[in-house]
Amino acid sequence: MGKAPGKHHRKGISLIELAEIFPDEESAVKWFEAVAWPDGRFCPHCGNADTAEVPQQTPMPYRCPACRKYFSVRTGSLLQSSRLPLRKWAFAVYLYVTSLKGVSSMKLHRDLNITQKSAWFMLHRLREAWDESDIEPFTSPTEVDETYMGGKRKNMPKSKRKQLGGRGGVGKTAIVGAKDRETNKVKAKMVEATNSETLKGFVTNATTEGSTVYTDDARAYKGMSGRAHYAVNHSIGEYVNGIPHQRH
Ligand SMILES: [Zn+2]
Repeated sequence: MGKAPGKHHRKGISLIELAEIFPDEESAVKWFEAVAWPDGRFCPHCGNADTAEVPQQTPMPYRCPACRKYFSVRTGSLLQSSRLPLRKWAFAVYLYVTSLKGVSSMKLHRDLNITQKSAWFMLHRLREAWDESDIEPFTSPTEVDETYMGGKRKNMPKSKRKQLGGRGGVGKTAIVGAKDRETNKVKAKMVEATNSETLKGFVTNATTEGSTVYTDDARAYKGMSGRAHYAVNHSIGEYVNGIPHQRH
């Protein structure tokens, strides 16, 4: 879902134009469908591309003859457990990608006329979506680093590190980032833990098989399959640090 309203915005779309693009629920459904199925509709349960429309089945308008299941554009997506109209989701996407300082759940609550609980849920789904779907996996040599809210552990004085104990950062929330050396594109993700499993999972998603990966920490990334791995000393962290201000 990472593409449409944001891209239009950079060419100068206004809120009033957005309201014209999405005048009703159906227009928003069509947009989400176009984003989800750019090469044609397929069954999210089994992948079958030969599916049928079911008249009058509003929440689940499609049926798959192969697995006999019903589905909608929400099925198997981040929107699966949401009952909010897709029109509100489309507006939320717009607000999310166009707010340089980041959109708050309070703003979504007020602007979209939804409950605070719904706004909170929505914001979390939007954050999830942006980490993964924004950019294709990197094929060029890629630099990977973790950074923490409040600074990197290894850059702290010894006394402070001793005080904190263990591995990791000051706060619990870390950002792991990957930078494509050729295009300078960045993928970043908030992670709750910086254990080897989480970090390697991120790298596997962020890069294609056969690519070369440079990391700061040799141990945590040891044993990544299908990637040539080199441990280096770099500080992508400073660069990645700018990301939450843009996307948060
Ligand atoms: Zn199916």
